[in-house]
Amino acid sequence: MILYTVTGKVGSEGYLDIAKSGDLTGKNIYVNMTNKCPCNCVFCLRHIKNMEEDNNLWLKEGEPSIETMKNLFSKYDLSVINELVFCGFGEPLERLYDMCSLIDFLKEKYPDLKVRVNTIGLANLIYEKDITKELKGRVDTVSISLNAPTKEEFYELTRSKFGIESFDAVKEFAVLSKKYVPNVVMTVVEKVMPEEKISICKKICDDLGVTLRIRPFEE
Ligand code: SF4
Repeated sequence: MILYTVTGKVGSEGYLDIAKSGDLTGKNIYVNMTNKCPCNCVFCLRHIKNMEEDNNLWLKEGEPSIETMKNLFSKYDLSVINELVFCGFGEPLERLYDMCSLIDFLKEKYPDLKVRVNTIGLANLIYEKDITKELKGRVDTVSISLNAPTKEEFYELTRSKFGIESFDAVKEFAVLSKKYVPNVVMTVVEKVMPEEKISICKKICDDLGVTLRIRPFEE
């Protein structure tokens, strides 16, 4: 499933193919272009093996090409949606340049299209350079999973291939993104994280000058 909406239900029923989503007015459309990720989080949904066959975010046929993506989007009117969210079952910035060219294509037709990227915030390590300027004029919101209040805990949870320094890289990514992206948010999940750790994350975000969003816990 490449383009989907979320239903509010828990588990695999939570994701609905855009083709089955009916009227798209006011909805967020999620874009699942890659299953690649530099992390292997202990809580990652990719570990759930029994998702329904027709409701699976795993890209069994490989990553869709840009042409495939353009053809898919041509079937829908994006002027009515709330937000286009690059997200999915992987790290969307693993396909940064494809994502940018797709956004450029879509914004030609829909200049007011709101775009968000949900990311683990490690793109500058993936590309071994600062890529945040690529987000300028393309991305309205970057939502970065902070996950933990310390670098040790972040590494323990995400098992990032970049090791213990990943946490500092994520924070730096947030700060650099602020130059180019109007809305930079970091997220943690309520209940998963105790209150005192959420307070530390809040302080981290305050120091970085970004907003902390506490996402609701889904069983
Ligand atoms: S960053 Fe996201 S996609 Fe990657 S392993 Fe963690 S939860 Fe899964």
